[in-house]
Order: sequence, then C-alpha cells, then structure tokens
Amino acid sequence: MRLTVVGAGPAYSDARGAVGACYLVRSGDHAIALDLGHGAFAGLAARIPPERLETVLISHLHPDHFVDLVPLRHYLRYHVRPASRVRVDAHPDLVERLDALHAEPGFTAGALDVVALEPGVRRVGPFTVEAVRVTHTADSFGLRVSEVGAEDGLVYSGDVGVADDLRPLVRPGDVLLVEVSFGPGPVPPGASHLDGPAAGALARQTGAGRVLLTHLLMGRDRAATIQSVKGRFEGPVELVEPGYETEI
Ligand SMILES: [Zn+2]
Ligand SMILES: [Zn+2]
Repeated sequence: MRLTVVGAGPAYSDARGAVGACYLVRSGDHAIALDLGHGAFAGLAARIPPERLETVLISHLHPDHFVDLVPLRHYLRYHVRPASRVRVDAHPDLVERLDALHAEPGFTAGALDVVALEPGVRRVGPFTVEAVRVTHTADSFGLRVSEVGAEDGLVYSGDVGVADDLRPLVRPGDVLLVEVSFGPGPVPPGASHLDGPAAGALARQTGAGRVLLTHLLMGRDRAATIQSVKGRFEGPVELVEPGYETEI
C-alpha cells in the first residue's frame, strides 16, 4: 500500500503550493483518496485519473477537507467521456452543503454517489476502512485504512480535538498520519485540534510504528513541532508535505 500526500492542509497558508487535505492511498491499480480539500484536485488528477478512484473518504465537512469535490464533480461530468461517477463516503449532510454551495439542487448527485460514513468497518475494493467518531465537528471521523488481510495500516486523524478518540483505531506498528495544527503547543482553549505533545503521547500509548505529522497551521515552527512529538515518542517522526510518498 502506497501513501502519497497530495495536500497537507491546513485551512489557510502562505506556503507556495499549499492546498487543503488530500491523501492518496494506492494498492496495485486500486486507489482511494482521504479528503479532497481546497486546491487539491489538480494534484490528485496529475497523479491518477480521478474517475478510477474506488472512493473519496471525507473525514468531516470543513472546506479544507472536502470542497474540491466541486471540481471533481465538474471533471466527471464535463471532461470524462462517457461521463463518469465516483463514490464518496461522507457524512450525509455533504449533499446539502455542496448543493447549497452551487445553489443547485441535485448538483452533487450529478456525478457523486454519496455513501453515509458511519462508525464501523467497511470494505472498499482491496481496502478495509474503519471509522470512529472524533471530537471536532458533529460529523468528524478518524479513519484506518489497510489492505484486506494485511496487518499494517494507516490511521488518519482528520481534524481532532481529543487524541484519545483515535486510540481504538491504532494498532501496534501502524503508521499514524496525525494533525498537529498547533505545532509544539499548547492548543488554545476551545480550539478542537491537536499539538505535538498530544500526537506523541498517542503514538507512544498505542504502539504506533511511525508518525507522519500534517495540517500544521501557518507560522508554526516546523523543527520545534517535530521535537515536541519526539519528546513523547521514540519512533520515526516526519512532517509531511505535498509530494511526500511512503510504503505502508
Ligand atoms: Zn482542517
Ligand atoms: Zn476541521
């Protein structure tokens, strides 16, 4: 299973080329995307014909995680011949949000088959996907992706305010792709995100194999962020960028 970081968020940035969250996971000819945030469609389409995706899993309904479903929808309708469709596993409110964004009832259904994302395990092509609810918005999920029959998995936090919400997902040796919005910390009161010490503690407590940090807010110190995780977790720690690839 191969992970490609297409976009590493967060909601805004002054870094050239920064786009919203999008993580491409491939196994042979099969592929799924985790999130499709602002500006991520181009990077996705440069790597794989988007109509070949088994599904796009949407962690939650913040635009930095889903709004490039709009260009995906247009691409499927107006570029691919014959017109094609893609499955999207997301909170069902997604349909209303996208339709409202375009002020067009039926806009979403024009090319996207939305399947309700709920806690539990689902099979998508050669992948097993496990979802748990996490503290962020009312519709937020953490996700674990693995190849059917394989032990190693990728756990993606989405955005999360309580690291412990992810504990049921992480198995020893897993790759933990975790948001670290507030860098070395602390997380301000009321902000439903993580910092490095929280991510590091989660990795240690769950026996994660390695940690990939993402969704770092603009202006946060990168080296200090990595150090703040290493203070709690002894395994490998990296802060990922668009274009980062790794085998899982
Ligand atoms: Zn976000
Ligand atoms: Zn969010």
